[in-house]
Amino acid sequence: MAVALIALGSNLGDRLAHLNAAVAGMSGLPETRLVALSRLYETAPVGGPDRQGAFLNGAARLETELSAPELLLALQRIEAGQNRERKVRWGPRTLDLDILVYEAEISDDPELVLPHPRMHERRFVMVPVCDIAAGLAHPRLHDTMLTLLNRLPTEAGDLTLFDDKWTAGYDLPLSHEESGAA
Ligand code: AMP
Repeated sequence: MAVALIALGSNLGDRLAHLNAAVAGMSGLPETRLVALSRLYETAPVGGPDRQGAFLNGAARLETELSAPELLLALQRIEAGQNRERKVRWGPRTLDLDILVYEAEISDDPELVLPHPRMHERRFVMVPVCDIAAGLAHPRLHDTMLTLLNRLPTEAGDLTLFDDKWTAGYDLPLSHEESGAA
């Protein structure tokens, strides 16, 4: 059984509906259990084309028997189900699902880089991650997720809490409150 952390993002269309579909999709994966969901945060877009809308970002923790490539394929199917189009790199997306961490696996395969190479540079990733896995060690950097988050400067236009009751719609054994993260 492997532990995986997944980043969820949406900035196009009914963002909440896309993220809820992602949660439903991940919950329905074979040999996989969704064990924790972060709160939801709203984030101004970083980089990319001008005038794209704000992102909703969250994170999920899965326990799975799927291999990392199998999990990536499954997440890409869930993205496709939300009509994600890959027209513009860094452009608006209905649903973006990334594998942040899969166990302590390290991979430099461009099809699946593990851990996700930029996760520790992004508050919109690390803040939700710390809701559900603050004490987890980053497999390459070895510091905990909370230590890495605390190193990131806060800037104007930083993310804001969008919905702290999001997880209430899902009957999860763990939540950010029980994980001990603020
Ligand atoms: P994006 O369009 O930003 O979601 O990027 C998708 C591409 O990134 C796909 O071709 C994936 O194979 C590749 N990729 C590399 N590492 C990862 C990762 N850790 N999680 C998700 N996609 C990844």
